[in-house]
Amino acid sequence: MTKNISVVEKVHSANDQLAIENKQQLDQAGLFSLNIMASPGAGKTSLIERTLPILKDDFKIAAIDGDVATSIDADRAAEAGATAVQINTGGQCHIDAHMLRNALMELDLDGFDLLLVENVGNLICPASFKLGTDKNVLIASIPEGDDKPYKYPAMYQDVDALIINKIDLLPYVKFDMDYFKKGVQMLNPDLITFPVSCTTGEGIEEWVTWVTEHIEIKKTS
Ligand code: MG
Ligand code: ZN
Repeated sequence: MTKNISVVEKVHSANDQLAIENKQQLDQAGLFSLNIMASPGAGKTSLIERTLPILKDDFKIAAIDGDVATSIDADRAAEAGATAVQINTGGQCHIDAHMLRNALMELDLDGFDLLLVENVGNLICPASFKLGTDKNVLIASIPEGDDKPYKYPAMYQDVDALIINKIDLLPYVKFDMDYFKKGVQMLNPDLITFPVSCTTGEGIEEWVTWVTEHIEIKKTS
């Protein structure tokens, strides 16, 4: 009998092993880490820019930014107060655990309290590449439409926190919040959700409180 393992399965099991090793490194350093995922333009970098100024006096923060071509996002994270490392994915549409491991080598992990990993803007493959971070965060945004949980279920199923960004645009865009939330509820019933506007700052405090609590828990665990 021939046992046939597909290339995709092999890739994922190798990735998952590296993710476990990343997690061990981050745990050893007592460093709380977030993998931030979203479609392009949903506000990953904007959320990082909103979050950093509130936390940077109390915590040492590192940002790792995945981008297919530029260092624009890493530059913005550095500008906002993080020690930033750029991962140029060379055209690849997600960060994998191996890329994260290489980026972690650039940082003295013991010197940091919080690590923000900004994944490549994409609602498909980042869901299936574990990185070894503590929490997976998904940013949805109002202009993307209320049907995204139904169209990208894998992304919504696995995340630990959901940010609904650009709520300041609700009066101008057709977005049925009940329909959206019903889709989320179906896939991930207890998902903690933060409606925010990175433009006006609304809701950012609740999000930052959640992050702060988890930094403290990780430090004392
Ligand atoms: Mg960005
Ligand atoms: Zn990809």
